[in-house]
Amino acid sequence: MKDYSVIGLAYNKEIRIYTSVSTHLVNEAQKIHQSHPTATAAFGRFLTQSAMMSLMYKDGERLTLKIEGDGPIGSMTVEAINGIVRGFMLNPYVYIKYEDGPKKGKLNVGAAVGRGFIYVTRDWKGNYFTSSSPLQSGEIGDDFTYYYAVSEQTPSAVGLGVLVDRDSSVKVSGGFIVQVLPNASQETIEKVEKIIQNTPSVTDLLLKLQTPEKMLSYLADGTENILEKHEIKYECTCNKDKFRKSLMTLNIQSLEEILNEDKKAHITCNFCKKEYTFDENELKKMLKEKREINE
Ligand SMILES: [Zn+2]
Repeated sequence: MKDYSVIGLAYNKEIRIYTSVSTHLVNEAQKIHQSHPTATAAFGRFLTQSAMMSLMYKDGERLTLKIEGDGPIGSMTVEAINGIVRGFMLNPYVYIKYEDGPKKGKLNVGAAVGRGFIYVTRDWKGNYFTSSSPLQSGEIGDDFTYYYAVSEQTPSAVGLGVLVDRDSSVKVSGGFIVQVLPNASQETIEKVEKIIQNTPSVTDLLLKLQTPEKMLSYLADGTENILEKHEIKYECTCNKDKFRKSLMTLNIQSLEEILNEDKKAHITCNFCKKEYTFDENELKKMLKEKREINE
């Protein structure tokens, strides 16, 4: 089964809920980046939340999200549009567990991400809007709950979970965003809060309920009305022409240096690790074009 999100209204249209299963999506990301378990969990939670957030914008707005933490992962970047995501992290080789306490043995995502900020940039028809908020725990779910409250003025609860298997693959991944709409009564808010407080970990919920529809129904306490279902996936849109264009932004001197010293340019895409090579002839042609532009 492919990954997807469902969006629904619940509690007499007072609450909007997004739920997702993203197991394939995060497995794809893990394979591409060869990430170690704690980095996989952090990045997977971030990708899942970004995919859901991109479904909130109806005009196909491209989102660029960045988490800049001072933990060993460093920064993580995700691009998202209509449920399609791609991203990369500075250091994917992070494996930290809780040493003691009630979470002993579990992946310590908070320590891997550290303290810092979330940045969300919306590209709407060439106009860029950036908002940011400080990280709360580095566990991603809490951090976006805070982000939605302060930056989007939409009280929300974000739950995200990635369960990594012994062979480093992803056993299950997914999450939810519960949004309180302006017309919500105090009674409804308390009801939803109670359900969320009593919810086991998101990975337990995923293992038990399996589908976004069942998660939605659980969070909605059976009052849901499903509005939409969207495929979500990890996909890179790079191609040789895009890298050619970025090489063309270099100045003539830099291009000459590459041509004279290496005789070729090797570029690896950050998002999908695909490699592109520009040989001597291609570089010469680009240099010629560049000189013509400058004349
Ligand atoms: Zn790519």
